[in-house]
Amino acid sequence: MDDLQTLVNEIHQEIAARTERGKVADYIPPLAEVDPAHFGIAVTTVDGQEFVAGDADTPFSIQSVSKVFTLTLALGMVGDRLWNRVGREPSGTPFNSIVQLEREEGKPRNPFINAGAIAVADVLLAGHQPKETIGEIVQFVRFLAGDDSIVIDQRVARSETETGFRNVALAQFMRAFGKLDHPAEHVLGVYFHHCALAMTCRQLSRAGLFLAAGGYNPATGRSVVSRGRARRINALMLTCGHYDGSGDFAYRVGLPGKSGVGGGILVVAPGKASIAVWSPGLNENGNSLLGSQALEMLAQRTGWSIFGA
Ligand code: GLN
Repeated sequence: MDDLQTLVNEIHQEIAARTERGKVADYIPPLAEVDPAHFGIAVTTVDGQEFVAGDADTPFSIQSVSKVFTLTLALGMVGDRLWNRVGREPSGTPFNSIVQLEREEGKPRNPFINAGAIAVADVLLAGHQPKETIGEIVQFVRFLAGDDSIVIDQRVARSETETGFRNVALAQFMRAFGKLDHPAEHVLGVYFHHCALAMTCRQLSRAGLFLAAGGYNPATGRSVVSRGRARRINALMLTCGHYDGSGDFAYRVGLPGKSGVGGGILVVAPGKASIAVWSPGLNENGNSLLGSQALEMLAQRTGWSIFGA
């Protein structure tokens, strides 16, 4: 599989030459300060090989990519009852939209928009203090990646807590509709902290491998979820993982993916590989501009689309 190493090197070189790099998230200082010149890519195949290029070992803020892991945990806790709390339809709205939430009486469209992830955090809090839930999420991500060095960037978590006014609004709004079981501050504490997880492309692609391999992580030898559940999480990533850019991502890349405002994207090529890319500049939907372009190249050149090679 030398070809795959050649391919990620080529993608790295082509991306490095691009001058239009998008706009780095500036809603909190720690993200605004990140150098837009970074680019990393890591591919972990289901047979355990890794192919990396660029800044694949530099940690970045995974932000909304973490919602895949909290969704997986919540499904493990309450199963299909989760769908009483949150829908599974694409929203067609920005990730932090409030309008739809009012119209739909506080039930978020899907687990990947902010409101949906806040509802998931509320589910994870059942019977726990926020600190315990945060600890469980970190442990789960370490277990998935087989890497105990993964931590939360406390500076990012603090910044989110100090200035996440829109998320406060979303949570309080849901609470007003009777859709949260716990105080908004507790739920947001969990949400802000899991968004602040810092991971490298290599760690992230390892952590997503179970979704490419039918729920089993071949790298760690651990079973994570059933085959059917992995398939469904992938379906949600495809339809909702890029907010109102999900259709375009499916059209261009043709693989389930989840993006974050830190510029990371986790992508699943079922039966083949888990892929993580990172480029901090974002497009108009808040998804990594060059990260999406890199994935488009990878999907085209490998033929790894779920819609046909
Ligand atoms: N922490 C970010 C927010 O709440 C996550 C959003 C994202 O990554 N799209 O706004």
